Amino acid sequence: MGHGWEGVVLKLMRGKDFTFTVTGAEQVTEHYRRVHVTDGGLLAAAGVHPTMWVRIWFEGGGKPHQRAYTLVDPDPEAGTFSLEFALHDGLASHWARTCKPGDTVAATLQGTGFTVPEPRPERLFVIGDAASLPAVNSLLDAMPGVPATLWFETAHDSDERLPVRLDPDRHDLRRVPRADGGAALVERVKAELPDLAGEDPYVWVACDTATTRTLGSYLRKDLSLPKERVHALGYWRAS
Ligand SMILES: Cc1cc2nc3c(=O)[nH]c(=O)nc-3n(C[C@H](O)[C@H](O)[C@H](O)COP(=O)(O)OP(=O)(O)OC[C@H]3O[C@@H](n4cnc5c(N)ncnc54)[C@H](O)[C@@H]3O)c2cc1C
Repeated sequence: MGHGWEGVVLKLMRGKDFTFTVTGAEQVTEHYRRVHVTDGGLLAAAGVHPTMWVRIWFEGGGKPHQRAYTLVDPDPEAGTFSLEFALHDGLASHWARTCKPGDTVAATLQGTGFTVPEPRPERLFVIGDAASLPAVNSLLDAMPGVPATLWFETAHDSDERLPVRLDPDRHDLRRVPRADGGAALVERVKAELPDLAGEDPYVWVACDTATTRTLGSYLRKDLSLPKERVHALGYWRAS
């Protein structure tokens, strides 16, 4: 399958293409599914970094569409990782629900990159949801020993059972049911973060694009956090 103009642009930007092969899947909750894949040489070629993601091509309406997904537990020696899907009504979710061992999917590596903040913050602040949970877990894994406060937006009762990799001694998880298109989450963060922030916080935000933009602007402008201490990337577009 060719990847249309988006694929041409990614090629020009030196994106590298790989094919993943499904080896199995687990239904984690009714709204969250984990798919195991072999990496088609990706990890050997590109290495691994925290929150690493790829652009996966899903077929819809006779055309390929790229969607970003985060590598879960990449194992460079075995050449494997998993993908975790927050399920809704969409092409990627549909593929995740129906894929079988042996199925293949094309992916392009372009645009991912993240360096663990130095100096390490006294406390890490994370604002995310089910779509960014794989990245949140990878971030927590990459900063063992750093205390963290997480505001986690939930959309379903079953989100209570999502596998957040918490260290109960160090991590403080605050679940916020999604309401008013993310406004409830923004309010909670604005009400609680300033008192906790301390001298040198690092804040990582990945929610829907509008909420992420609002929070990013609040952190940089209203709280005057330096831009290198705020990472804000919208993960999905609400409709
Ligand atoms: C860097 C990066 C890494 C990401 N990693 C992951 C990951 O590991 N796991 C993961 O699940 N997602 C991840 N996402 C988000 C994912 O790419 C989007 O949710 C994507 O839109 C899903 O594609 P789709 O084809 O299923 O739905 P689309 O065709 O894009 O959208 C279909 C409908 O579903 C709605 N929708 C889309 N995403 C969501 C959502 N998350 N929650 C509720 N409604 C939604 C849309 O508003 C639309 O109405 C990541 C995004 C980025 C930018």
